[in-house]
Amino acid sequence: MEKSDFGLIGLAVMGQNLVLNVESRGFQVSVYNRTTSTMEEFIAENPDKKLVGCETLEEFVNSLASPRKIQIMVKAGAPVDAVIESLIPLLDEGDIIIDGGNSLYTDTERRDKYCAEAGMRFIGAGVSGGEEGALKGPSIMPGGPESTWEVMKPIFESISAKVDGEPCVVHIGEGGAGHFVKMVHNGIEYGDMQLICEAYNIFKAAGFSNEELADIFADWNEGDLESFLIEITANIFKQKDPETGKDIVDLIVDKAGQKGTGRWTVMGSVEQAVPFSTIAGSVEARILSSMRDQRKVASGILEGPSNWDFNLEMSKEDLVKKVRNALYASKIVSYAQGLDLISKVGADKGWDLNLGEIAKIWRGGCIIRARFLNRITEAYTADTPPTNLMLAPFFTEILNQGQSDWREVVALAATNGIPVPSFGGSLAYYDAYRAERLPANLLQAQRDFFGAHTYERTDKPEGEFFHTEDWPELI
Ligand code: NAP
Repeated sequence: MEKSDFGLIGLAVMGQNLVLNVESRGFQVSVYNRTTSTMEEFIAENPDKKLVGCETLEEFVNSLASPRKIQIMVKAGAPVDAVIESLIPLLDEGDIIIDGGNSLYTDTERRDKYCAEAGMRFIGAGVSGGEEGALKGPSIMPGGPESTWEVMKPIFESISAKVDGEPCVVHIGEGGAGHFVKMVHNGIEYGDMQLICEAYNIFKAAGFSNEELADIFADWNEGDLESFLIEITANIFKQKDPETGKDIVDLIVDKAGQKGTGRWTVMGSVEQAVPFSTIAGSVEARILSSMRDQRKVASGILEGPSNWDFNLEMSKEDLVKKVRNALYASKIVSYAQGLDLISKVGADKGWDLNLGEIAKIWRGGCIIRARFLNRITEAYTADTPPTNLMLAPFFTEILNQGQSDWREVVALAATNGIPVPSFGGSLAYYDAYRAERLPANLLQAQRDFFGAHTYERTDKPEGEFFHTEDWPELI
């Protein structure tokens, strides 16, 4: 029997769709799943496809052409290690194992070394786009050695999404670089989603109907904010519940789930000392939403304006325009922070990450795909790339024009008891970043007072440190 070009382990939603995608590009694919019945059902549902269903890992490995190219799409964490462990004794030197799940990049670094020691080649590849992306063309962020990427390039390029004829995949960098960038991508996705939810909350409090909201988001999707998430949001507002005939969005419990990539990104930002207010706000918002029982109790105890007594003192059109500007400005800050983290970790690890190329492969296939990513690529491929995205002229202009509306929206939300952690956190970052002077002089004095941590002086050369011996005694 003809050997397969590609093998995939893990036939849940992502795995099945990726297999169909790879097969549709002319490759024969072998498949294996821990629970055999899932594999059998999948093969039975796709009788005309060039698929080879395997009941055992031995059968699976033997069905693949050399060097074997095996993609693992199982639950992130211990299952990935378990699969690698059982695969390695069956493989030959130079075979390629690709982990396409949402693995933590430090796990990928460990697996990369482990596989290399066993003579295998390993790629940690982030795959974004959910079920539909996996089937029709995802954005793929592969790490690992450049030479292994060269072997995988034809398959990855053919299955990835295309924008302006360019595949949404590029070799990100060595080791765990691919999974690291995918992790930050997911953090940015958290931020984008939260910003949309904050806009929704303000509109809802101001009495907008779901019909109006569908129109607003559809309209935004025609302009600079055009993106997958804005588009699906417009459609969500149109969806009725077949059982009750009510709008489905109003029936969904306000308790958000999360699998961990957003949290990992925030933890990474703290470790790297990169300010991360927008995305950190979005992770906290999900956590607070999940504390629903506590929120119910607190709503009867802690006082403040009620979201739903919002007295709008401007026209609806004005509010829409201001919220749009607040959202756009906050989104720029979110990307500035995410790209800052990528740039910092990339430099520390010696990954030589190309921010322009990364933004480019996010333009299609993935959840954060958006029109303005083109502008980010332009900013980072300019002769003088900005030290911070906010300083790229295109983005500076939007921020300068929108900052006054942004402030008004954050103030309006605070006055009316509407939580806007990501709008507000982004604005605080913007104001701190542009502040020539911050109150950290007082902070340094406090540190010196209790811990003799020393300080620099405004009237002495930079780099000279001083300590005050005789701070006034506490009484
Ligand atoms: P999933 O629910 O994360 O994982 C289910 C798959 O993992 C099943 O095939 C299951 O096999 C297998 N599995 C679990 N434990 C195993 C073990 N110990 N040994 C061998 N196989 C094991 O599936 P998914 O949603 O398709 O996601 C796959 C990966 O892609 C995950 O890392 C996920 O985070 C990532 N991802 C998902 C999405 C998405 O939209 N769903 C998007 C991007 C990335 P059985 O059938 O035997 O249980």
